[in-house]
Amino acid sequence: MSRSGVRRGLLQEPVGEKVRCLTCERRCLLGEGAIGWCRTRRNEGGTIYTLTYGSVSSLSANPIEKKPLYHFYPGSVALTAGSWSCNFACPWCQNYDISKSPPRPGRYMSPEEFVHTTVARGCQGTSISFNEPTLSLEWSLEVFQLAREQALYNTYVTNGYMTVQALALLVEAGLDAMNVDVKGDAAAVREFCQADVEVVWRNCRAAREAGVWLEMTTLVIPGVNDDPAVLRGIAGRIVSDLGAGVPWHLSAYFPAYRFDAPPTPVATLERAREIGLQEGLHYVYIGNVVGHPAQHTYCPECGMLLIERWGLGETRVHLDGGSCPRCGRAIPGVGLAWKSRDNSLGRERGTPNV
Ligand code: SF4
Repeated sequence: MSRSGVRRGLLQEPVGEKVRCLTCERRCLLGEGAIGWCRTRRNEGGTIYTLTYGSVSSLSANPIEKKPLYHFYPGSVALTAGSWSCNFACPWCQNYDISKSPPRPGRYMSPEEFVHTTVARGCQGTSISFNEPTLSLEWSLEVFQLAREQALYNTYVTNGYMTVQALALLVEAGLDAMNVDVKGDAAAVREFCQADVEVVWRNCRAAREAGVWLEMTTLVIPGVNDDPAVLRGIAGRIVSDLGAGVPWHLSAYFPAYRFDAPPTPVATLERAREIGLQEGLHYVYIGNVVGHPAQHTYCPECGMLLIERWGLGETRVHLDGGSCPRCGRAIPGVGLAWKSRDNSLGRERGTPNV
């Protein structure tokens, strides 16, 4: 099958008369003509095809801080592409216009065109984001390989629900960093997202072990995950499973899609940040609140302001190499010494300072 946007799915296995998709942990079992939970994959003639290969719903050059990735080439820019649909059911989705939409006729971009555009626009890397990038697995793998050849970095902004096999392929192809959204405790993720949060933690651990730089995000939603015990549980889990140096982004929610809880009060985010710090995390950020001091990086040892972030795209790095210039403490991350916009990242990529 060679229709534009349609490719054979890489991860699948026959089960009797049906075929199981092994792209994400929904593991949909599809009979002839059936479409998966995510609506982006279909069994045609005993083979599962992705319907969104290279189908780009959104394309923009974003500061890496927007992902958010705060300890990864600060001040760099990633050409970012999204496609359609999602494999989670979150009723508050902030990107619902594309993530709750089945595949639509969109712009087709080959991996070659996307990487060429990344270089031409002077970006330092790629990001697959906006909707769930796992659904674009086949396209991502080709993009990442081509981007690596151009000394670009590769990032995912994801709910972390891919299978172990899919994650391994992404790492092998050149995935450098991920921001993973942990949406709440087990009960909230089951009720609202129809998913198992343990899969997300499993994949986060695997990504860390594989050398992928990882940052975590929680969209703090009143009535869903703003209970101090829930926040304490997430923070403690980051410390125990991933390490105290993994950044945690607490993002303000605004009413969207089918959810009408009030916007997250700043005081709730500040209380959540306190909880994260009490649990032992070294870097807890507040996002979606313009000008908040907790959008900067401070040295956990001496308190010095190390990386200033003023809006998207204005980043001032005061590190000495990758360390605090006052007390010498090493700051975890990748590319923290990178200061240029000349598209040359050097060769330190793939060796996170943890
Ligand atoms: S990628 Fe889609 S079709 Fe495949 S298992 Fe996940 S939800 Fe199902």
